[in-house]
Amino acid sequence: MTSISNRLQVILSAIQAAKRPEHAAQSVQLLAVSKAQSATAIREAYAAGQRHFGENYLQEALDKQAQLSDLAITWHFIGPIQSNKTQLIAQHFDWVHGIDRPKIAMRLNDARAKHSKPLQVCVQVNISQEPSKSGVLVADLEALVATIARLPHLQLRGLMAIPAPSQNINIQTQQFKQVRECYDNLLAKAYALDTLSMGMSDDYPIAIQQGATIVRIGSALFGARK
Ligand SMILES: *Cc1c(COP(=O)(O)O)cnc(C)c1O
Repeated sequence: MTSISNRLQVILSAIQAAKRPEHAAQSVQLLAVSKAQSATAIREAYAAGQRHFGENYLQEALDKQAQLSDLAITWHFIGPIQSNKTQLIAQHFDWVHGIDRPKIAMRLNDARAKHSKPLQVCVQVNISQEPSKSGVLVADLEALVATIARLPHLQLRGLMAIPAPSQNINIQTQQFKQVRECYDNLLAKAYALDTLSMGMSDDYPIAIQQGATIVRIGSALFGARK
């Protein structure tokens, strides 16, 4: 077995082990974050069974997609989105995790091919309320969600968050719980969401305990980025 394949098995087991009994029936999907990793490394993970891959940088992603066009990969764009990149993102990805303002949502909607399946999207929430961070502030979340829900070529799946880094398990837990509460509030308002994208290499078990349905894992799977 290759090391990527070994690490994949370890992570998949850890994902199962982190689930709480009340989430037993809910699937938690591994999104392999392949930014700064080679097409060869992606092929290796694919050969081991991984199908969902996440990229942050458009040009890098397009280059690798061209080299991997023989594989049935589901591509997720997880980086910050500049408005001049929306056309290519809408054309070349299945999912987008980082929508944080109406303008980006509308541009992605307009650029999505009308005959394609709607683009699957998550709204990024700025849970730490740091102005420097990307993501919509909690106070503006519902208005953005309502806008996206009206756009025919986007399918709103849920929320994404990147909490402020912390070594303190209580702080990590608290931050994921806040994202979860935003998600539950929207469900209570009858938005049909099924995705909570949170948790990375260093904190994914804690995110799963708080209800994550997608964990985005890079270095724990592929090794350190070059
Ligand atoms: C890089 C990145 C990840 C993965 O980070 P690791 O710590 O390597 O697991 C997850 N989500 C986003 C948005 C990222 O940019």
